[in-house]
Amino acid sequence: MIRVARAALPLSLATLALFASGAAYAFEATQRQGDVTLHYQDASDAVPEGVRTRIIDTFFKAYLPQRADFHPHAASEAAIVIDPAYDGIAYVGEKAKASTITINPAWLAKHPGDTDLVTHEAMHIVQGYPEYANARVPGWLVEGIADYARDRYGVDNAAAGWALPLTVQDGQDFDTGYRVTGAFLKWSEAAWPGLVKTLDGALRSGRYTPALWQQHTGQPLPALWAAYAKARQDQ
Ligand SMILES: [Zn+2]
Repeated sequence: MIRVARAALPLSLATLALFASGAAYAFEATQRQGDVTLHYQDASDAVPEGVRTRIIDTFFKAYLPQRADFHPHAASEAAIVIDPAYDGIAYVGEKAKASTITINPAWLAKHPGDTDLVTHEAMHIVQGYPEYANARVPGWLVEGIADYARDRYGVDNAAAGWALPLTVQDGQDFDTGYRVTGAFLKWSEAAWPGLVKTLDGALRSGRYTPALWQQHTGQPLPALWAAYAKARQDQ
């Protein structure tokens, strides 16, 4: 393995290296901000420097306040792994991978403005729920909170043409997930501040039930959605 120093390295990166492995080059960097350390790995050096810099910058700009606001004990050590073998967009895994964001570089090549996908994934690290996609930790709510957080903490969502919807379409409901649920959460949070933090805490501790919505807002979840859908219609 040959380590190659690189001329145009961002000085803020604490350690980094380009090294040859057969024909492929690998890029690795470790950066720290506040009490959070990020390990960035791109085994085939697939992401261009400009996008990489924005990915790393976006991670810290999102993760530090998300963590402070929702879960100060969330991981202080995280990783971003660029993986050409992953054919989705990006994900955070479970257990040993619960603080690793894996990104498909082909997606970034096609959508170089979509660096705030890291903001959504960083929120999954903050969430750190013990389960996923069941009655105690519904997948639609986990993803809705992550998109609510992308809207709230995103660095440049406009660059990706990304926004929470301002209208409700036929067939959508509170449990549609992602942006649809994210927009519903934003509207609900504006009316009942602290709702999202309450839901997040309950999901993490295994105390989540749909009744929590009624306890916090005074309305059962389906009625709250109906009020939201009506408010959107009346705009
Ligand atoms: Zn997600």
